[in-house]
Amino acid sequence: MATQIEIDDHITVGALAEVLRLPVSKLIGELFKNGIMATINERLDFDTAQIIVGELGLDVTLTKKVSYTEPVKREKPQHGKNAAQRPPVVAVMGHVDHGKTSLLDAVRGASVAKGEAGGITQHISAYQIEHKNRLITLLDTPGHEAFAAIREHGAHLTDIVVIVVAADDGVKPQTIEAIRFARKAGVRIVVAINKIDKEGANENQVKQQLAEQELLVEEWGGDIVAVPVSAKTKQGIPELLDMLLLITDVEELKADATMPARGLIIEAHVEHGRGSIAHALIEEGTLKVGDFVVAGPAYAKIRNLETTKHEPITSAGPSTPVIITGFKALPEFGDPFIIVKTEKEARQQATIAASERSSGQRSEISGTEMLRLITRKDNLQELAILVKADVQGSLTSVIDSLKTIDTDEVAVRVVSSSVGVVNENDIHIAHSSKAIVYGFNTSVASNVKRIASRDQVSIRLYNVIYELIDDVKAELSELLSPEVIEHEIGTLEVKGVFKTTKTEIICGGEVKSGKLVAPAEVRIFRGKEQIAEAKLKGLKRGPNDARDLTEGELGGLELQTVGRIALEVGDTIRFFTRETKQRTL
Ligand code: GDP
Repeated sequence: MATQIEIDDHITVGALAEVLRLPVSKLIGELFKNGIMATINERLDFDTAQIIVGELGLDVTLTKKVSYTEPVKREKPQHGKNAAQRPPVVAVMGHVDHGKTSLLDAVRGASVAKGEAGGITQHISAYQIEHKNRLITLLDTPGHEAFAAIREHGAHLTDIVVIVVAADDGVKPQTIEAIRFARKAGVRIVVAINKIDKEGANENQVKQQLAEQELLVEEWGGDIVAVPVSAKTKQGIPELLDMLLLITDVEELKADATMPARGLIIEAHVEHGRGSIAHALIEEGTLKVGDFVVAGPAYAKIRNLETTKHEPITSAGPSTPVIITGFKALPEFGDPFIIVKTEKEARQQATIAASERSSGQRSEISGTEMLRLITRKDNLQELAILVKADVQGSLTSVIDSLKTIDTDEVAVRVVSSSVGVVNENDIHIAHSSKAIVYGFNTSVASNVKRIASRDQVSIRLYNVIYELIDDVKAELSELLSPEVIEHEIGTLEVKGVFKTTKTEIICGGEVKSGKLVAPAEVRIFRGKEQIAEAKLKGLKRGPNDARDLTEGELGGLELQTVGRIALEVGDTIRFFTRETKQRTL
């Protein structure tokens, strides 16, 4: 019976080769036979994939599956009979210095505001608090303008956004931005009017400014709950938490804990000695130690599960933020995660996601780059590389810098680039595309090193961008054809031809200039026209072998030829040495 393989409605050549367990080159060859010029990252539609599988004569049937990498925006799930109330997921947003961190702090009873790097919360982390014997999940969202994109992600993760407005400062640009995000994400808004202990606090003015943003508070006839609070004196905090639980009940926030777990990665980093650490928020189902998780191109068999307070747990249900260890590569912030049954399935799904991402990156070719590709000379030599970096910003800088070193003769071809540690899938891609792996501010696991050395994939790690670029330049220089410099050493006039075969000429003549030394390159001229090329193998002075012949001397020559050359008396032979010089960029 034919093997059934499920694929998405589009699949890259690399990913198809992977699922078919075929060398990529074989698949590319088959596509070529069918008139399709494709690279490893080319996307094929389902029908094309099916035809090619047929052409290959494989005992495989392809079936279409629903893409699992659909971006998970928080949809209100249809609740089945197993759905039960779950904690609300709450994000706190607002203008810088309006007291987000202090408020979260007051709620949590810890002291984070003082310890933050540069006073800015850089990552979304999450934790749970208990209020009236019920849990509330809080996302600690970044507060600085530079993290607007991350904050937008934060809004998608949440059920309720608490917008903090300082009563002494009022609605500010980031307040408006937070309102916009919350609206876009379709989540409930609660306003915390903070710093009411301060002199100059003006609650009414804040309400007025909110109304200008079309947020009308309840007491003015609208549906927005505004709670006056002080993170400093803790006044109003219990009321704010009450309000969050009330909304949970009204909105009927529920989830089914019996389903396979799914959710979102909310933070990921590498920790020395522990590998990739991912913070994830479970949206539905129950996540357990030992589960196989896939998040975009990263996958894991969950080694340890912890609460965000680093307490070990064996399982966790809906709305719980957890810390997962065991990821082979670093998952990305905002990636949805799902559970699969086997490690094999996890690896396959991750590979497919990786190829889809790299093909996505390829499609972002700018107009000038396209022009450069079209006008490239045919003899262009390319250096295939795969780039990994710690963060998106450094990845972009590395790739931008690499683009500047291309010439008409040699160019860098980035076969894949992504953020995170060098993982097994990278080695796989590098191997099949004969690429060198360059890592910037990143690392490589020892099992991955083993696979790389088995597959003869070179991994080069750098912490200084210029050193990385210099290495790439050195590699590109190797690809440059060497410069050939010719030096004429002498000339001779042919006085007699003694033997001519397909491969050899024995002749004699008079050295007209310079000094002949064997071996040398030879050009034969009749008048001004060059009639042939050959190699000087040996010299004779009378019957004896000679080391050299100088101007005015008569001597014999042994020439090595390719094919028979009809040398004649009176022809001129010019002698050269050739020097090859490696060029550098
Ligand atoms: P964030 O940038 O929004 O996270 O703001 P922070 O929590 O770092 O607070 C900014 C400043 O306002 C700090 O100096 C806090 O001590 C102060 N602050 C925060 N909340 C209150 C409050 O309720 N009352 C008073 N008096 N000061 C507060």
